[in-house]
Amino acid sequence: MSTEQTHTFKAEIRQLLNILIHSLYQEREIFLRELISNASDALTRMQFEMLTNSNVVDPDAELTIQISTVEEDGEQPRLIIKDSGIGMTPDELARNLGTIAQSGAREFLSQIEEGKQTATDIIGRFGVGFYSVFMVADEGRVVSRPDSPEATAAAWISDGGESYRIEKAEKADRGTEIHITLKKDAAEFAKAWKLREVIKRHSDYVGYPIMIDGEQANQQKSLWRKRPNKVEA
Ligand code: ADP
Repeated sequence: MSTEQTHTFKAEIRQLLNILIHSLYQEREIFLRELISNASDALTRMQFEMLTNSNVVDPDAELTIQISTVEEDGEQPRLIIKDSGIGMTPDELARNLGTIAQSGAREFLSQIEEGKQTATDIIGRFGVGFYSVFMVADEGRVVSRPDSPEATAAAWISDGGESYRIEKAEKADRGTEIHITLKKDAAEFAKAWKLREVIKRHSDYVGYPIMIDGEQANQQKSLWRKRPNKVEA
């Protein structure tokens, strides 16, 4: 597959995006849980890779998830979620964020239509969690560079409508960055206090530090690992 291409989303994915964007307003904060969960998976895969391969970009980079925000006068606020995980090649960007999800999208939609499950409960289960970013984003831009020293960086860009495009990108360090241009009515997700609150609620147990403005936002401990007297009601 060559780079610099526009691809149309398949019908199932367009339908999924439509539902996410137009009917799940109340539940939209879970986009953060889904993106953090993907970042955490990418870090675990990197850790595993480094057990047997030392020929990687940034072998000493800390395994963390960094969240930053940009609020400038006259511009839509932006949110950036960055990991030092295993990254994706240009082909993987197109496959993982465009193609593979088709069957998952179909199953997700049929479960929602049956009405037994809420979208937020099951979205992570069908390989479609990434698309929840379009509940809050006017545009999502995923810039990624795999761990191999020879690899090149690429960007996946979409407004969550009909299509996405893959472009060449500059990125020297390993891993993935999701640049989110927030919708006007989702501007609160550019506020550090709001992000901290959502992380406490949905991602406190994630096994890597989640940093916001240099401060860790998660405890990195699951409930079952705490001593009983430390568990609060
Ligand atoms: P799931 O994580 O359930 O498979 P998603 O739609 O959230 O489904 O993501 C699809 C795929 O895209 C993932 O399986 C993974 O291969 C890839 N991916 C997503 N985010 C990242 C990331 N931050 N780093 C590396 N790969 C990623």
